[in-house]
Amino acid sequence: MTLPKPRPGILDISPYVGGDSGAPGFERPIVLSSNESPLGPSPAAIAAIRGYATATNRYPDGDSHDLREAIGGTFGLDPARIVCGSGSDELIALLVRIFAGPGDEVLYSQYGFLMYRISALAAGATPVAAPESGYCADVEAILACVSANTRILFLANPNNPTGTYLTADELRTLRARLRDGVVLVVDAAYAEYLGRDDYSPGIDLVDANDNVVMTRTFSKIYGLAGLRLGWAYGPPAVVDLLNRVRGPFNVSAPAQVAGVAALSDGAFYQAARAHNDEWQPWLAREFLNLGLDVVPGVANFVLARFDDPGHGADAARAFLKEREILVRGMNGYGLPDCLRITIGLAADNRAVAAALAEFLGR
Ligand SMILES: *Cc1c(COP(=O)(O)O)cnc(C)c1O
Repeated sequence: MTLPKPRPGILDISPYVGGDSGAPGFERPIVLSSNESPLGPSPAAIAAIRGYATATNRYPDGDSHDLREAIGGTFGLDPARIVCGSGSDELIALLVRIFAGPGDEVLYSQYGFLMYRISALAAGATPVAAPESGYCADVEAILACVSANTRILFLANPNNPTGTYLTADELRTLRARLRDGVVLVVDAAYAEYLGRDDYSPGIDLVDANDNVVMTRTFSKIYGLAGLRLGWAYGPPAVVDLLNRVRGPFNVSAPAQVAGVAALSDGAFYQAARAHNDEWQPWLAREFLNLGLDVVPGVANFVLARFDDPGHGADAARAFLKEREILVRGMNGYGLPDCLRITIGLAADNRAVAAALAEFLGR
């Protein structure tokens, strides 16, 4: 071997496997595997990206100044306490690198977003998964897993792939009972899809504490997954740390202008929200009517459980794929009997429901 040994943890990582996006011979697959927006990016964002094409010889603004101002204006936040990233994945990885290394523990809940475990291992830290109950994060179980070595707790709220969430009250309780020396990161990637009174994306919690960070993304309701754009809102000390470790030009210029444009397009946002409000419950109901178990989740997908061993999740996924409908298998999450199906256009949703009815012989 001519290479030095990789740092501890690196070889324990199974590379992240994204959702199916097609296969040779598929002309127009129905892609319901990555929680992407079925409505595309906002027309305003498309125009902004096009308009920027001739200026890409220039480096981007390393501070994402205009974008942070636009985010601050939209959400009522101080732009100085916002850090933008190349997807919230980058910010998650940076937060782990800042606070955890060998000997430290990174805590998350059992079916929590896979990037927490991957980022922990990449930093040489020890990933710890707290058991869930009913496919939902469990405050008591999380607190029971906190040790003297715990440095950071990630909570996707609502979570991917389960779609379940802790209420604002439960989040507050969790923070209040969590040791001070543990940073709580609330990953609110799907916050825009929720309109429930008992839910909070976490801004109030960031404001009330000096050890809570919220991450958000443009990849979901804003339809900009391909550009890689996310942001974090946190206490000044954490913002300072993130700005030290991030790359000097970590957010591309087209992503910055597209983000500003997307935030200005309220009509597109409202349409995306209305579409999901209509079709997410529709798809969940269809699956229930087919006799599948559906995790009572929110956000822009449905997690369905295939309990009948004669009609399992793997077989269902293969059956759908033959019909050029791509959904997400959940083996990587330890949920081999489940499939996660993203809300698509009306015709996509009808197609996946009809194909599953055929698969199940209903
Ligand atoms: C999709 C998703 C993200 C977003 O990741 P980006 O890097 O911003 O695309 C973050 N957290 C969770 C839980 C997600 O499902």
